[in-house]
Amino acid sequence: MSGTVYLIGAGPGDPGLITVRGQALLEAADVVFHDRLGTEGLIGRCRADARLVNVGKAPGRVAMSQDEINASLVEAAETAEVVVRLKGGDPFVFGRGSEEAQALSRAGVDFEVVPGVTSAIAAPAYAGVPVTHRGVSTTLTIVTGHEDPDKAGEQTDWAALARVPGTLAILMGMGRLRNIAAALMSGGRDPAEPAIAVQWGTMSRQRSVLATLETLADRVEHEGVGSPAVVVVGPTADLAEEIAWFATRPLIGRRVVVTRARAQASALSERLRLLGGEPIELPSIRIEPIAQPAGLDEAVTSIGDYDIVVLTSVNGVDLLFDALREAGTDARALSSETSVVAIGPGTAGRLAERGVRADVIPERFVAEGVLEALAGTDVAGARVLLARAEDARATLPDGLRERGASVDEIHLYRSVPEPIAADAMSEALAADYVTFTASSTVRSFLGSLEADQRAALGDGPRLVSIGPVTSTTLREAGLPVHVEAQEHTIPGLVDALLADAAAD
Ligand code: SAH
Repeated sequence: MSGTVYLIGAGPGDPGLITVRGQALLEAADVVFHDRLGTEGLIGRCRADARLVNVGKAPGRVAMSQDEINASLVEAAETAEVVVRLKGGDPFVFGRGSEEAQALSRAGVDFEVVPGVTSAIAAPAYAGVPVTHRGVSTTLTIVTGHEDPDKAGEQTDWAALARVPGTLAILMGMGRLRNIAAALMSGGRDPAEPAIAVQWGTMSRQRSVLATLETLADRVEHEGVGSPAVVVVGPTADLAEEIAWFATRPLIGRRVVVTRARAQASALSERLRLLGGEPIELPSIRIEPIAQPAGLDEAVTSIGDYDIVVLTSVNGVDLLFDALREAGTDARALSSETSVVAIGPGTAGRLAERGVRADVIPERFVAEGVLEALAGTDVAGARVLLARAEDARATLPDGLRERGASVDEIHLYRSVPEPIAADAMSEALAADYVTFTASSTVRSFLGSLEADQRAALGDGPRLVSIGPVTSTTLREAGLPVHVEAQEHTIPGLVDALLADAAAD
C-alpha cells in the first residue's frame, strides 16, 4: 500500500485558524508528524489511535534533522494511508515544506499541499496591524531575519530592503534585531518609522511592543519579549494603537487547566479561548460506559410506565437513548404522562436534541435541587427511574424513597481516573486557574499529584469549583476553593472565573 502525504499549514497558533481542509485531513490521519510551534492546540483533534511524532525541538531532546524528517515521511507513506505533516503557519513560508515536497516528489510519493495562515500576516493582524493599508502601505515584503546582516555571503540585501517603501515583516529576527535595525537605518530607512514586535501572535500569551525602528531593540529587551515573534517595520505598525482588538479580551494571558473528561472538555476550552484565555486540557477522568447495566433492559422495556424519569448528565441522556435505540425504539417509548427531570441546562439541551423537552429543570443543578423542585409534587407511590453514574451520591434516591417513591436506579457509566503525567502536572501547577467540574475530577486530579506537588497546589493556581459538592470535596482534601460558580453549569463556572480575573 502507498499512502499520501499532506503538507498542512496549521496556522500560527490559534487552533481556529487551521483551514477546513486541513482539519478534515488531520482528523482522518493515521500518522501525524508535527512541529512544536503553532500546532499545540490541534493535536487533540487527531484520532485517538493516530501515531503522533513530534519532530521539533523539545526540552531535553534534539529536533529531528530535515533529512530524517524527509526520510520518515517517505517511509510512513509506505504503510499508512493518510500521512499528515502539520507545520506552523503556512508550510511554504520559511517552513522548509518545499524541501519536504521535493523529497516526496523524488521518492515518487503522492503528496498534497494545504496552505495555511502565515504568522507573517496573522500575528500582526491579531495585534491590530494590517500589512497593507490604502494610501499608507502598498507593498508587503516577508523576510527571514535568520541570517546575520554582518556576515559575509549573506543572501538578504538589507540595504535594498531599506529602500523598498511599505511594510516589512521579519520572521525569525529576534536574535539579530539590533543588527537588522542598524542595517535598515544605514540603508536609509527612517529611524523614526513605526516598528512592532508581536510574540506568540494569535495565542492567549500574545505580547507586543510598539516602538520605532531605532528604539525597538531596546524596548523589546526591556520588556523581555523574545521568540517566536514577527517584527513589522513600516507605516502601518502604529495602527495597532487604534485597532488592536485581541489583547483586550478579558482572559488574555490566563492559563486555565480543564480537568474534565476529554470528550467533554472542548465546550469549556472553546469558551475560555473565545475570551482570550489559554485552556490546558488535562483530563483527570474518563467516562466509561458500563457494559451491561443491571436493570437497564427492564427499565427500557417498561420506560413508559415510569411517572418520573430523572437524568443528571449529558452522558446519561446519551447512554439511555442509545439503549432505547438498541431496543428498537426511541423517544416515543416515553409516556406523555411521564415527567422528565433534567439536572442542568446541558442535560436538558441534550434531551431536546433527542426530541424530548424536559418538564422540570431544577433551579439548583445538584441532586438536592431535584428534591426541591419536586417538593410540591406528591411522589408517594410514584415510580421513578434514575439513570446516572455509578459513583453518584445517594442523596437523591434516598430523599425520594423517604417520601414514598419507588426508585429504580440504573448505573449507566462510571468515571475512571485518568492518570496525569508528571510533566503535564507541573504545567498545571504553573497555570493561573485549575477548574473542577465534578468531585470525581478533584479526586482523580489529586490522585496524580506527588506529595511535594500537593503543597504547591495550595498556593499555586487558583482553584475553581462548579458548585458546593465539588467545593466540599476540595475542602475535605485540605485545599482552598478560590472561586465557586453561582450557577452550577459550565457557563456559570466561566462567569465566576471571569469575575475573579476582573477583580485581580
Ligand atoms: N511557516 C511559518 C513560519 C516558520 S519560521 C509561518 O508561515 O508562520 C518560524 C518563525 O515564524 C518564528 O521565528 C516567528 O518569527 C514566526 N512565528 C511563527 N508563529 C508565530 C506566532 N504565533 N507569533 C509570532 N511569530 C510567529
